[in-house]
Formats: sequence, C-alpha cells, structure tokens
Amino acid sequence: MDCIFCKIIEGLIPSEKIYEDDLCVAFYDIEPQTRVHALIVPREHIPSAAAITEHHAALLGHIWTVIPKLAEQLGVAEGFRVVTNSGADAGQTVAHLHFHLQSPK
Ligand code: AMP
Ligand code: ZN
Repeated sequence: MDCIFCKIIEGLIPSEKIYEDDLCVAFYDIEPQTRVHALIVPREHIPSAAAITEHHAALLGHIWTVIPKLAEQLGVAEGFRVVTNSGADAGQTVAHLHFHLQSPK
C-alpha cells in the first residue's frame, strides 16, 4: 500500500519512534509545529476520522489511554493539544488516521 504511515509502522521508512504496542505507534513529527509534536497512529490503516465506525471503538478508546501516558513521557502533561485533521479541506496531508500531540507552543 502506498501509505507513508503504513511504511513507517512496518519499518520501511525510518522514524523517531516514541512508543508502540499491538494497536498503535507514536513517533515524532518530521516537521514539528510546536516544541513537542508527536503523532499517534493506529496500526490499522483507517483513512481519516471520517472513516471511523463502531468497529474502531475499542482501538480509539485504547489510543486515548496512550495519549496521557505519552504526554507524561514527553513532559507536557500539564498542557497539551490533540488534533486530528480529517479531509484535505481541513489540512489532512497523510491519509492514515493520526492524532497530533502538541505542546501549547
Ligand atoms: P496532517 O497534515 O494532519 O495529515 O498531518 C501529517 C503530518 O505528518 C504532518 O505534520 C507532517 O509533518 C507529518 N509527516 C509527514 N511525513 C512524515 C514522516 N516521514 N515522519 C514523520 N512525520 C511525517
Ligand atoms: Zn496507512
């Protein structure tokens, strides 16, 4: 599949991984917009938030338990932002669901 995040997950493209488990992977954004900027990506190729269904409920619940642990690990637990751009109109450039975890500045 021609998906840059699937390739990162498979280790075919290098990335600076921060965390991984059976369901998701986290790595640093290659073009950080803030002091701390990581991406949390499900291993399953879901094209965007618009494609989420009931089938993904447990996966997304899991990701939301990983997010505060990562925030703690990255030293931003006191204040952080989580963003998902869905669709090109909203600025989505990689068509594999991901959550931006960013420090406030
Ligand atoms: P979005 O624009 O919301 O789809 O976010 C995609 C993000 O992926 C952008 O912030 C990019 O900087 C980031 N990105 C693209 N390619 C890579 C890569 N090879 N490694 C890490 N982050 C990447
Ligand atoms: Zn993918």
